[in-house]
Amino acid sequence: MKVLVINCGSSSLKYQFIDMTNEAVIAKGLAERIGIEGSVVKHQPGDGDKITIQKPMPTHKEALQVVIEALLDKEYGVIKSMEEITAVGHRVVHAGEKFACSVVINDAVMAALKECIDIAPLHNPPNIMGIEACQQLMPGVPMVGVFDTAFHQSMPKESYIYALPYELYEKHKIRRYGFHGTSHKYVTQRAAAMLGKPLESLKLVTCHLGNGASIAAVKYGKSVDTSMGFTPLEGLAMGTRSGDFDPAIIKFLMDKEGMSIVDVDNMANKKSGVLGLSGVSSDFRDIEDAAEKGNERAQLALNVFVHKVKKYIGAYAAVMNGVDAVVFTAGLGENSDYIRREVCKDMTYLGIEVDNAKNKVRGKETDVSTDSAKVRVLLIPTNEELMIARDTKELIG
Ligand code: ADP
Repeated sequence: MKVLVINCGSSSLKYQFIDMTNEAVIAKGLAERIGIEGSVVKHQPGDGDKITIQKPMPTHKEALQVVIEALLDKEYGVIKSMEEITAVGHRVVHAGEKFACSVVINDAVMAALKECIDIAPLHNPPNIMGIEACQQLMPGVPMVGVFDTAFHQSMPKESYIYALPYELYEKHKIRRYGFHGTSHKYVTQRAAAMLGKPLESLKLVTCHLGNGASIAAVKYGKSVDTSMGFTPLEGLAMGTRSGDFDPAIIKFLMDKEGMSIVDVDNMANKKSGVLGLSGVSSDFRDIEDAAEKGNERAQLALNVFVHKVKKYIGAYAAVMNGVDAVVFTAGLGENSDYIRREVCKDMTYLGIEVDNAKNKVRGKETDVSTDSAKVRVLLIPTNEELMIARDTKELIG
């Protein structure tokens, strides 16, 4: 069985084609600049060289057409006929309260996802476009939707409800949903395997630290709290997103700076976080470099980020009445020994202690805690595509 995994953004389409007999990636790539000038697909067959295909791609449908042609290409293709694409797994950001697990896509599922556009206006429309493009170009091929929000549907009500008038939840479903669920779920499964214990016996704090960042408390295999909320803006400071701040600041800024509500929303999503603090970059590599050279605001950005991650780990240890392991994943969690070390510094009270020599590692599954530490600190590279392909196989296979 071979599964095509699709992840559509507003002007991009990421894909991986995975052979589920051995979970090997047969081909992968990225279509960029869809709908704007300079559309391009960067396609990589197996271990082969990257191929760049430039062509006008006004919509996701044309981009997908180019991807299919690349998979079938006589020279560098990896399949002989479309029949070899057994199923398609789609990453979908928001399923609201409708789905707590992955589902086979049918008309009712599509209708449900369209209903969620109101609460995910930036993310769900491109995801839906990707599904519709596949339906048109691959009629009859079964498809599965895998949702970022699904894993967090297990949160108890006290975790997900805001202390706003309750009618707003009833009327508009304003509540905390959480995101990155596919990644949090994947790393919890890997953590259990690394620790050699059943997931149902473990209390884990999973830190997905990338450009977007979120932390989850996963008790006995179920998410019981997470740092992102109604949208991916809540929680930690991120590359360009503010994370939590006092909502009273919004009116204050409107009064004092003459900002509109759209300006404030734009500022909080695109000009804040470590970019806004450092004035250097949203990329942690640039910020770490600048801080090393003595840039105080860059150092402040790192300190703020680290402080918030620490607070969530402590809070989630409290929520779960203990923690067996803290997991670091995603771009920063997998690559920055600095961030892992600083977050875990002075946490011996909780039983957390990183071994600085073991921690000098990147991108591979490693236990970086000291031998005597009560709580394990694990580096686990995430693999959302594989998780999507596995769910697709399970539902279609
Ligand atoms: P997303 O998928 O949310 O766009 P990623 O998970 O790819 O983000 O993470 C991107 C972040 O990881 C960037 O801020 C980047 O600076 C950071 N990162 C990647 N490699 C390193 C590294 N070696 N050191 C520090 N940060 C890194």
